[in-house]
Amino acid sequence: MLIVQKYGGTSVGSLERIRAVAERVAETVRAGNRVAVVVSAMSGETDRLIGLASQLGKSPDEREMDLLLSSGERVSAALTAIAVQDLGIRSMSFTGRQSGIITDTAHTRAKIEKITGERIRKALESGAVAVIAGFQGVTEGTGDVTTLGRGGSDLTAVALASALKADLCEIYTDVEGVYTADPNIVPEARKMEKVSYDEMLELASLGAKVLQTRSVEFAKKYNVPLVVKSSFNNAAGTFIVQEDEEMEKVLVSGVTYDKNQSRLTILGVPDKPGIAGKLFTQIAGAGLVVDMIVQNISPDGKAADISFTIPRTDSRKGLEITRKVAGELGAKNVDLKEDISKVSVVGVGMRTHSGVASRMFDTLARHGINIMMISTSEIKVSCVIEAKYTELAVRALHEEFNLEKAA
Ligand code: ADP
Ligand code: ASP
Ligand code: MG
Repeated sequence: MLIVQKYGGTSVGSLERIRAVAERVAETVRAGNRVAVVVSAMSGETDRLIGLASQLGKSPDEREMDLLLSSGERVSAALTAIAVQDLGIRSMSFTGRQSGIITDTAHTRAKIEKITGERIRKALESGAVAVIAGFQGVTEGTGDVTTLGRGGSDLTAVALASALKADLCEIYTDVEGVYTADPNIVPEARKMEKVSYDEMLELASLGAKVLQTRSVEFAKKYNVPLVVKSSFNNAAGTFIVQEDEEMEKVLVSGVTYDKNQSRLTILGVPDKPGIAGKLFTQIAGAGLVVDMIVQNISPDGKAADISFTIPRTDSRKGLEITRKVAGELGAKNVDLKEDISKVSVVGVGMRTHSGVASRMFDTLARHGINIMMISTSEIKVSCVIEAKYTELAVRALHEEFNLEKAA
């Protein structure tokens, strides 16, 4: 078999952990497989580099950030190749450029356009283990280094597995698979044997960082066989698969939370056609991704308040733009609230069963948690609440929908 194995930050977090990775790679090779390994930066390294940059510049240029951040993955790729070689197995490490990972020019959130992968194929054909620095690519024209967004090594692995037509893409991390909730928050969370691409996509985009959202999108689109496992033991992981009938019987399969949220409110905008259009055109034009939107009309019907959420990491930029647009629209004021979070319940069973939303609202109410905003889709319900209640809400919902492991 041809297997792509991806090891996250904790899994290559120390020399000891890198040796353990090399052992696992060696075992996989000895079992008769060809192996391409994708590695993240050592844990904490990407944040450390971001910290260094922010000490030197208020809003560092994204092109320079990409060159800086890509170094973390290069270090772990080279070290991993060295550790594999030390076990008597031929191995070569490759940067994004050497791997032929071509992206668009959107620095810090680039999209992979194609993977030529010539050198990787050659290395694999010669019987060597190819170790690829995750999270990075280069632009076609200038060859500038780009990165794929936080958690982007998952995408490198999935895209590479697709390009190489690998038989399996294994994502090794610090938990044993995909759980019904973040196991670090909910000790009772249960590991799922399998989860559908659609559910995983919602779970990831609603905060379960165990897989990067775009990697799941890619895996779904190209049908990449994907499994999430622990690099710390040999427990069976979670397979990400096409939906089957059995899955629809389960009402809710997971609870997630996302603390990277803030809410902007424009108070007193004139209630007439075209206002929301103007506002959100400018917000989108600035590259801000809006999630939930709520509009309230004043009692006299002449003015409206419009609230919307954006990632908290974009708060400052969002406030600036919203203030500007508010001025143009003749609105009264702009309010920013940052201490909020979003909790969500996800399940394909919601397509065929009703009543999940009301149970969610009742559960939050019983715990004295106020709901500020709500949004739903076919297979999820999300509520924005005060950030300080996040863990309480996740645990309460986990219990309400009977997700805990069998005693
Ligand atoms: P890596 O560095 O290996 O990429 P991440 O930190 O990105 O690892 O992702 C693994 C983490 O995802 C876990 O430690 C866990 O806290 C978190 N997580 C959040 N939600 C879930 C979930 N539903 N199932 C498993 N892990 C989850
Ligand atoms: N090192 C990058 C990050 O921390 C990419 C990754 O780990 O997948 O976001
Ligand atoms: Mg990750």
